[in-house]
Amino acid sequence: MTAIRDLFGRALRNLRISVTDRCNLRCAYCMPEEEYVWLPREELLHFEEIGRLVDVFVGLGVDKVRLTGGEPLLRRDLPRLIGILAAKPELRDLALTTNGVLLADQAVALKGAGLHRVTVSLDTLRPARFTALTRRDTHARVLDGLAAAARAGFTSTKLDTVVMRGVNDDELADLIEFGRTVPAEVRFIEYMDVGGATRWSMDKVVGRAEMLQRLERRYGTITPVAEESTAPADRYRLADGTVFGIIASTTAPFCADCDRSRLTADGMWYLCLYAQQGTDLRGPLRAGAGDEALAALIRPGWQTRRDRGAEARLALRDRSPLVEVGQLRQDPHLEMHTRGG
Ligand code: SAM
Repeated sequence: MTAIRDLFGRALRNLRISVTDRCNLRCAYCMPEEEYVWLPREELLHFEEIGRLVDVFVGLGVDKVRLTGGEPLLRRDLPRLIGILAAKPELRDLALTTNGVLLADQAVALKGAGLHRVTVSLDTLRPARFTALTRRDTHARVLDGLAAAARAGFTSTKLDTVVMRGVNDDELADLIEFGRTVPAEVRFIEYMDVGGATRWSMDKVVGRAEMLQRLERRYGTITPVAEESTAPADRYRLADGTVFGIIASTTAPFCADCDRSRLTADGMWYLCLYAQQGTDLRGPLRAGAGDEALAALIRPGWQTRRDRGAEARLALRDRSPLVEVGQLRQDPHLEMHTRGG
């Protein structure tokens, strides 16, 4: 399938689907508030509706889908959706991003349903630190979830770590060492000023250059892995062959190569994590729009896309959180946990 392209020549290939805005953690960098405005349940897309929209996206070039949230494993009967998506041969990659808390219970069913691979978010190896960061006491369950995923037969597992200064930036090497045992490739994510990160400030960001310097002090020479890819992580190899990634979205954004768009659990389509406006696909879908009518909404949206959200943020002199709390309450679609990370 030839993918449609945007104004910068970027192909529509990668769709991230948030299946719920609910989460069972309250991470300081994503959901720091006490209360949230949730999407009305009746507005959430049914699995068949998601399947139909994916068919339309596939017809326009999408061949990679990642399920996310909120916490996707909170969505009841998720393996049924995975089964629907896994039956589409055009999807060459079907992945899931999870915090891992419920993974031990579901790993076998997810694998059986046809999920290709999992990425587990893990910011620390220290249980007390995990509790302080997430406001929940479930660190051991995440580790159990990782072990269960390996037992269930998942390979190419990734561990995503948001690195925050003074919070977990002393664990970079420990996480790489832990990754070897899973086994999983660790990816360090720079702390981003996305919607929901209301406590963000630049001094809490540990940039890629600093991460590499620290890791070189421990491991010696680190070599960039040469590869052509639109994946967000730059990958690096240690002398012993261990590979890890860094997602430098804050200090060195990769907008030029970004082939991602995002569908929220209630069917809003966003072209950029930083976009303020999206396209409602649920309304037309439920009003009876056919596949071509839905494609006619998506095609011009992508073809006129000029979003370079992270680069625009980088160009700002004084950077503060993207969206204030009051605005997030009025429009929860601006939240990272609604849009899917
Ligand atoms: N609940 C799932 C999880 O924890 O992986 C999926 C949703 S979560 C929003 C997806 C990813 O976004 C996670 O890896 C999370 O660490 C990342 N994320 C959330 N807020 C972020 C921020 N302010 N900066 C960088 N990454 C962030």
